[in-house]
Amino acid sequence: NCWFIEHAGHCSKRPYLQQQYVCQQVTYTDLLALTVLPPGVDKAEWLASNTVAFFKHINLFSSALSEFCTPSTCPTACGPVYVWTDDHGRKLKCSAPLYLDYAMSYIQDLLTDEAVFPTKAGSLFPTGFVFLVQKVFLLLFRTLAHIYWSHYRETLALGLHPHLNTLFTHLTLFCRQHALLDSEDTEPLQDLISALGQHVSKLPIPNHLTPAPIP
Ligand SMILES: [Zn+2]
Repeated sequence: NCWFIEHAGHCSKRPYLQQQYVCQQVTYTDLLALTVLPPGVDKAEWLASNTVAFFKHINLFSSALSEFCTPSTCPTACGPVYVWTDDHGRKLKCSAPLYLDYAMSYIQDLLTDEAVFPTKAGSLFPTGFVFLVQKVFLLLFRTLAHIYWSHYRETLALGLHPHLNTLFTHLTLFCRQHALLDSEDTEPLQDLISALGQHVSKLPIPNHLTPAPIP
C-alpha cells in the first residue's frame, strides 16, 4: 500500500506564511525537548504512543474543518493532486476529502491492529514497525498540508491557527528527531517549516522562565 502526490503547481497566495499568523502558537513549551526519547523508555513504545497522540489530535482537527472540505470545494486540493494506491496497486485519483478519509481509516485500522500496535504488556512490536510509523506520519503531514493549502481561511475564522501552528511544529520536530519523513516529503511546506522554525528560535522567553539575575 503506497501513495504519492503529484505536484500541479503551487498556490500563488500563501496566507499561512504571513508574519502575524506565523508567530501565533498556543504554547511556549520547548516542543523540541518534548520530542526527545525520555531516558529508560523503549524507542518503539515512544514512537507508538506519539503516533496515537498525533493521530487523535490531527483527526480531531480535520473533523473540525470537514464541513468545509467537500468534493466540490476540494476536487484535487489546491496544489497537489492526491492519488491513493489501493491494496491491489490501483491508483485512484481522488478528491481531497476522499483521500483524507482513506488516510484516516488506514491509520485507524493500523492503530487498532494488535499485531502492529500491541497494547498488552510484554508484546513485541513487529519487524517493519518503524516503516509503518513513517507511512502514518507521511499521511498525517499531508493532512495538515491540505489544511494549510486549502482551509487556512476557515482555520483563521475559527481561531484555530495557533493550534494548527503548534501541532504542525510539534509534528515536524518529532519527525526530524526520529527521521520519519524524507526531505522530499516535507518540501512542499518547507517555506512554512522554515518560517515557524525561525520563529521558534526567536520566541521571547516568558518571564517566569527567565533565570533570576545573580545578585
Ligand atoms: Zn479540503
